[in-house]
Amino acid sequence: MTEQSDIVVIGAGQAGAELCVELRRRGHAGRIVLLGDEAWPPYKRPPLSKAYLAGTADEAALHAVPPAQLQRHAIEFIGGARVVHLHRQHREVELADGRRIAYRGLALTTGGRARPLPVPGGDLRGVQVLRSMDDARALRPALREGSRLVIIGGGFIGLEAAAAAIKAGARVTLLEGLERVLARVTAPQISDFFERAHREAGVDLVTGAQVAAVLGRDAVEAVQLADGRLIAADHVLVGIGLLPNVDLALQAGLEVADGIVVDECARSSDPQIVAAGDCANHPSAFAGRRLRLESVQNALEQARTAAATLLGAQEPYRTVPWFWSDQYDLKLQMVGLSQGHDRLVLRGDLQLARDFSAFYLREGRLIAADVVNRPQEFMLAKKLVAAAATLDPALLADASVPLKSLLPS
Ligand SMILES: Cc1cc2nc3c(=O)[nH]c(=O)nc-3n(C[C@H](O)[C@H](O)[C@H](O)COP(=O)(O)OP(=O)(O)OC[C@H]3O[C@@H](n4cnc5c(N)ncnc54)[C@H](O)[C@@H]3O)c2cc1C
Repeated sequence: MTEQSDIVVIGAGQAGAELCVELRRRGHAGRIVLLGDEAWPPYKRPPLSKAYLAGTADEAALHAVPPAQLQRHAIEFIGGARVVHLHRQHREVELADGRRIAYRGLALTTGGRARPLPVPGGDLRGVQVLRSMDDARALRPALREGSRLVIIGGGFIGLEAAAAAIKAGARVTLLEGLERVLARVTAPQISDFFERAHREAGVDLVTGAQVAAVLGRDAVEAVQLADGRLIAADHVLVGIGLLPNVDLALQAGLEVADGIVVDECARSSDPQIVAAGDCANHPSAFAGRRLRLESVQNALEQARTAAATLLGAQEPYRTVPWFWSDQYDLKLQMVGLSQGHDRLVLRGDLQLARDFSAFYLREGRLIAADVVNRPQEFMLAKKLVAAAATLDPALLADASVPLKSLLPS
């Protein structure tokens, strides 16, 4: 027998939870069912590579929406519920246990999964990714005095986990395949700054490292590089990117191209179905092209747009992307997209200090900024990037000129 719902949301991450709450905020009274294949109620992932991994935050601090709030809003969260099929012609979803739920409106907030390591031994015991609460729990034993942790991938997750592991006394080797860490998202000077910070903290950081295999009999014992080098390991963390969860969308015949293709109102190629968060690929007015973003800001804001769309409103998602990362005492905040910049302006001394701002210009206009340990400058940078301000590089670099004075009037 098919159950009736009004709105069904598949994927109980930050996007899915926010979408449900937004429906209620907007006065929606119909039945809302939130389906998640993880056992946990919706939680925030950022602490998984930061405070939660380090053991300084517990599960309760991670709730994306406190369970009591879900209850108060009559949002029916069903955990451990994997949707295996969309029956678009009947407007029904089918769960792994055979249960079927009919919908009037459907949201896909299925997020993504960590890319597995595509080398021999990549599935040995002790080799793991860091995407879920269960992953973080499994990784915690690697964070202790003397444990040998090899991290593959010098992106945000790898670097944050390295910082947490070093603090716990582990011996950390970080292997990055490219010539520098964070190569896809920052300028070489910023990569250099972070590489130095990690090396000074005690990380053995190797760039240009091609991993050929993971070796071990029952469990991981070493990582082998293409040049033959062997690095002994008790644990291996693989942080080499994300694959968007688009299987359901593909199977249902929705348009998919690096994520579920949506319009600026988060509508998929089926007008009854919206998508938001890490799984969605949207047209960005800011970037002038399609984007699939992996950030909390995107998950939350796009989910609100998707909720509006399900209720018949038209509220295009137009945002300037921003992101943050915590490593040691360094809080990196980023706004905009730096790809395509033709000039980098630094404000502060990256060699001497642990705080600075880096501004990316294209044809004189500010398109992005990376700010370390300067929260007030970041707030101003957000405004300047949103305004696509035309700025004099000399004034921007001059620490005696208040950034505020450069805001367009
Ligand atoms: C370790 C880590 C650190 C991060 N740090 C930061 C940070 O510092 N700043 C920042 O902005 N962002 C950070 N992010 C990224 C941010 O957490 C994500 O962008 C955000 O969580 C995306 O939310 P989402 O709801 O779109 O997807 P997800 O959080 O992936 O949620 C999707 C959910 O849907 C479930 N699902 C998928 N398919 C099905 C199905 N068929 N049936 C049922 N359920 C299904 C998935 O299992 C998952 O639980 C971090 C991510 C990780 C993993």
